[in-house]
Amino acid sequence: MKSYDVAVIGSGPGGYVAAIRCAQLGMSTAIIEKYSTLGGTCLNVGCIPSKALLDSSHHYEDAVKHFEEHGIDIPGDIKVNLKQMIARKQAVVDQTTAGIDFLMKKNKIDVYQGLGSFKDATHISISGEDKTEIEAKHTIIATGSKPSNLPFIKLDKERVITSTEALKLKEVPKHLIVIGGGVIGLELGQVYKRLGAEVTVVEYMDRLIPTMDSGLSREMNKVLKKQKFKINVSHQVKSVERKGDEVVIMAENKKGETVEFNGDYCLVSVGRRPFTDGLNAEAAGVKIDDHGRIEVNDHLQTSSSNIYAIGDVVKGAMLAHKAEEEGVLVAEILAGQKPHIDYNLIPGVVYTWPEVAAVGKTEEELKEAGIEYKSGQFPMRALGRSRASMDLDGFVKILADAHTDEILGVHMIGARAADMIAEAVVAMEYRASAEDVARMSHAHPTFTEAIKEAALAATDNRALHT
Ligand code: FAD
Ligand code: NAD
Repeated sequence: MKSYDVAVIGSGPGGYVAAIRCAQLGMSTAIIEKYSTLGGTCLNVGCIPSKALLDSSHHYEDAVKHFEEHGIDIPGDIKVNLKQMIARKQAVVDQTTAGIDFLMKKNKIDVYQGLGSFKDATHISISGEDKTEIEAKHTIIATGSKPSNLPFIKLDKERVITSTEALKLKEVPKHLIVIGGGVIGLELGQVYKRLGAEVTVVEYMDRLIPTMDSGLSREMNKVLKKQKFKINVSHQVKSVERKGDEVVIMAENKKGETVEFNGDYCLVSVGRRPFTDGLNAEAAGVKIDDHGRIEVNDHLQTSSSNIYAIGDVVKGAMLAHKAEEEGVLVAEILAGQKPHIDYNLIPGVVYTWPEVAAVGKTEEELKEAGIEYKSGQFPMRALGRSRASMDLDGFVKILADAHTDEILGVHMIGARAADMIAEAVVAMEYRASAEDVARMSHAHPTFTEAIKEAALAATDNRALHT
């Protein structure tokens, strides 16, 4: 039986990054993946394919709606070739997952294809393609998550679908009903809206992207309405029924009235649940909490001291970069180092257009914690760069401590916010004040000038261009 310093179960961004870092630190490492491709949810059916479709659909929308104004005439009709769009997406996925195969080889990590199940705390049986058993001094569980569902919904995966099916539809829906106005609902809703579908969002809470700062929700609502989304917040879905090619959704609004929605496809995007099926965690003494997550301490160590868990299968934000940080952290702990993650500084991004991005505390969180803060906000439309590209929606908001001026949260919606949020993360990592950022030169014309202006606004309301 082969024996390793570390076995990693699951090859998503948490697992494969943990394996690379363990190998870099000189540990003999194995990774076990039940699917035939590496990369987990993120690379196969998550981050990468969704961004590929967001990009393709964005190009299409630009061609249809904006080229003429830019002075670009295209003779004849501009048409969507969905088959090609999905094929390109798949090519991007295939290239990316093949890149992980290369990284495993380069780092001399043994890859086992099959379901990993604990026999005990140091032995894992692998069923499937590479049926065998291995021994590991330490194991890192990185088994990720699967889409959640509501108990009364039957996902037929044809018309009542999750994100996985929405990434490979064979036709553009005529009317897509999206249950859940969170990240997946808005990103994939926008893909099909751009391609010509009518899109109705049914959200249980009283605002879209409800875990983000409410200012972002309000602006998102405004922008999506302009894009002709139909948005229904404070609606509790009661039933979803397929009738031939139609899907009928019944929901209750906040007045207690029943509202009916009819579409030809229904995307259920109400969150994801941790995945531990088949892992046989009990055999290794690994406890699972009431939410189905693997219980871990601050060092991501499970109730079995030589076993750690990371990523979507443990508490915290279900984000690829959070999983990666945790993978590195555990590898370095195993190597005797003392790493640290500041969870407050894990940014959150929604890749709609305009993009939404945030880091640190929301206004709601600061109010609840009783922290006195000041706020500076700057509209994207006041930037020359925004006018040049006609990306006028959105703003940057900086929240800073009322007494010390330290930046406590940055919330932005606008063109390229996903990339711009990195500046806020760096500033907050170094505990910058709003004044620090306000005094740094930002290249002109760039969208990042909105960050400088918001910082100026937060410090004595001295934004220059409003
Ligand atoms: P996963 O990526 O879920 O990987 C777990 C792996 O473990 C899987 O490959 C699974 O097959 C394998 N596995 C499970 N059990 C076993 C077992 N017993 N034996 C062997 N293998 C096993 N996050 C972002 O940060 N940015 C984004 O833009 C983004 N977009 C997303 C879009 C969509 C549509 C979805 C669904 C998710 C998106 N996410 C995004 C979330 C992101 O995909 C997850 O947070 C991330 O993949 C979590 O990584 P992980 O390593 O914990 O688990
Ligand atoms: P989410 O938590 O972002 O959104 C789910 C939404 O569904 C919430 O707004 C919630 O209030 C709503 N909801 C819950 N129950 C409902 C009900 N009964 N009726 C109507 N609405 C209901 O989850 P998601 O969009 O499914 O995404 C899952 C995970 O994947 C998230 O944790 C997210 O972090 C991750 N993800 C991240 C990205 C990104 O980083 N860009 C993209 C996609 C997914």
